[in-house]
Amino acid sequence: MVPLEAGAGPQNPPCPACGEPLFGWIDQRPGLDGPVRRCESCGLAVTGEPGGVGEALAALDEPADGEAVTIANRAGFAAWIGGAGWAGLTPDRRYLFTPESIRRLVANRDQVVSSARWSPAPAIALMWQTILNGFTFGHNIALGALGRSEATPATKPWQRRLDNAISVLVAIPALIAAAPLELTAAACRRGAAVRLRFKLL
Ligand SMILES: [Zn+2]
Repeated sequence: MVPLEAGAGPQNPPCPACGEPLFGWIDQRPGLDGPVRRCESCGLAVTGEPGGVGEALAALDEPADGEAVTIANRAGFAAWIGGAGWAGLTPDRRYLFTPESIRRLVANRDQVVSSARWSPAPAIALMWQTILNGFTFGHNIALGALGRSEATPATKPWQRRLDNAISVLVAIPALIAAAPLELTAAACRRGAAVRLRFKLL
């Protein structure tokens, strides 16, 4: 086995969370600010320049004492089946977290993850939108319309009209597929959304 460090280089900058090299995941996609790289050790993915620990921590909502933070889980089954169509990939999210990458990051501010639980409603919504993205030119059209995500509309007006119609037509069948898929993912601890609580050491 080749150690992961052997892959380090300008194309493979270190992961802000764990220091292992990042590898190419998605070259480019409309609405994203550059290529997306991922860490094969802790699972974190980053759009554009990876930055450091401070930037990654700043992107993680700072919870009030004892409050939970919900993340779209890059290590979830939805991200795996969705790839570039994963609903967690949005223009407003530069860092795509996993519970493990967050464990590594918050250790830098003397915190531990005290609980990490599947968050059913956002998880099923993410799986649902990931399936819908497989049918549309744009991304996150349905969740965007519901005000639950930043949508990336298609470039041409006819594509946008078609996307709106498809989102309505496929909404129910996609939900019927998404619910059992996401329940299975959660049972395998690969849920699409996870609620984390932190504790100071
Ligand atoms: Zn990492």
